[in-house]
This record gives sequence, structure tokens and C-alpha cells, in this order.
Amino acid sequence: MNPETQDHPVLQPRGVERLVTGQPTRDGAGVKLTRVLTQDLQQRLDPFLMLDNFASDDPDDYGAGFPDHPHRGFETVTYMIDGRMRHKDSAGHEGLLQNGGVQWMTAGRGLIHSEMPEQEAGVMEGFQLWLNLPARDKLCQPGYRDIQREEIPEFTTAAQVTVRVISGESHGVSGAMHRPVDQWPTDPLYLDLHFAPGAGTFSQSLPPVNNAFVYVYRGAVEVLDGAGGATAVALHRMAILSNTGDGVTLRAQGSAGARALLIAGRPLREPIAQHGPFVMNTREQLVQAMQDFHNGRLG
Ligand code: MN
Repeated sequence: MNPETQDHPVLQPRGVERLVTGQPTRDGAGVKLTRVLTQDLQQRLDPFLMLDNFASDDPDDYGAGFPDHPHRGFETVTYMIDGRMRHKDSAGHEGLLQNGGVQWMTAGRGLIHSEMPEQEAGVMEGFQLWLNLPARDKLCQPGYRDIQREEIPEFTTAAQVTVRVISGESHGVSGAMHRPVDQWPTDPLYLDLHFAPGAGTFSQSLPPVNNAFVYVYRGAVEVLDGAGGATAVALHRMAILSNTGDGVTLRAQGSAGARALLIAGRPLREPIAQHGPFVMNTREQLVQAMQDFHNGRLG
């Protein structure tokens, strides 16, 4: 069975609206990272609120980790490319996130957790994506799922592109995380694309309303426009895709191969009020979140 035959062909690929360079910063107890999706892009990339990329082989950059801190009102998706991180939260969940695995945490009405490196040397590389919850679900029961590397569906196309389907659906393959769309209106697609050296193109159909972006973490890729043109996306750059078209067509730039995340979701179009680790719809709800945290009602 060739998974490529099971997808709608992309007839009018989306172009690149904007290229974004992430901002170097530190978070947690001083973890060095690049904030790729920053707060000023939350409206444009609704329902996504943040994307961080951490990548270092220097323990001084990551060793202090993310000690106990609260969250409310959204989901955090941590994807570890290389390294080990232990997660513990006030709902009693504990898990070890490592090499190619994903932790999908629904903060909902709130919890307190820690995310701590479980290594003293070597490379720590990965991503944390924040996905908003609709207003009606912001105070839902917290949830948590550890997805090991081998639980993430993966296929390789005839063009030698390997696709890891973390959530959503690609070429007829359902992701590790999927919920009925009436329960999960953001309908998130999260793909990790590996272009082997010399690989051909990869196309993914996308509903035009869904906001989408590409982030390159090895090599460089090109976004093809369908008229023979291409926009290059360099290493560690994010390409925000236009909403005109029925999908996206990508290839590695040059012959050395590349790796990139392709992330898309249906916008909620609700007000976004953020204060640090709380993301609600109004200022009053943020004040309530802070009061609940200080009064010990978050965990
Ligand atoms: Mn956290």
C-alpha cells in the first residue's frame, strides 16, 4: 500500500507569507532556548500560542530545567529529538520523555509541574508547542499522555520523505494524538518531516482556514508555489504559510536532506489573554488564575 495515493493531491500549494527568525531567550531556571513563535504571532497563528526550540550540548544551557510552575487554559506538546527529561505534576502524573517521544499535556483548569533534564551531559534537543484550548474547555480536567517514539506512526513516501505523524492525519495515516473534531475544534496537525539526501517533494493537503507554519531544524527546505517558483526557508527559520491554497508542497534545498516540522490548526478566533503560564480569554480570568495559584487551588 502506498500511503501517497490516499491523500488529496495538492493543486494550488500555499506560498510563504512571512519568514520569521526566532528570538534567543532563557526560561524556566535558565534554560537557553529559541522562541520561534512569539506572543506577537498568536493572532496570526491561532490556535498556536508559542513554539520553543531548545538545542544544546552544553549542560550549562539546559541543566537547571523547569522546576515547579503552573499552567492553565491550554495544552503543551513537548517533542524530544534527543535527550531525556522527567515530568512530574500535581495530578500525580510522572513520565520520562526521551529520544523521539512526545508528551502531550492538557493543562485545563490547572496544574503545577516540573520538567527536568535527566542527563548531566550530551545533547538536549527538542520543541515545546503551546496549543490553545477553546473557551469552553479552558477549565477542563487536566490530562496527560506520554507517547514513546515507537508509538508515533511513521511512513516513508516513494520520494524518500519519512513522515512522523504526531497529530492529525497525513496521507491516510492518523497521528498518535487524535480526538473527534467536535471535541477538539483546533484539529491540530503536527508532522515531523525527514527528507533523506536526494529526496523528492512532499505534499500535504490543508484546509485553507487552518493556519500553518513550517520550522526547519536540519538543513534547509523550499516551499514550492506551484508555478515553478520556490521560497527557501533556512535552518532555524519559521515560514508562516499563506491561507490561499489547498495544501503545501515542500522539498529539501540541495541534496543533503533536511528536517522540518509542519504544524497547522483551525483558529479559535476567541480573545487571547496571557499572563506567563496562564492563557485565558479575559483579564478577569487571568486574575482568577493567579489567585487560585496563590491560594493553592491549582494543584
Ligand atoms: Mn511547563
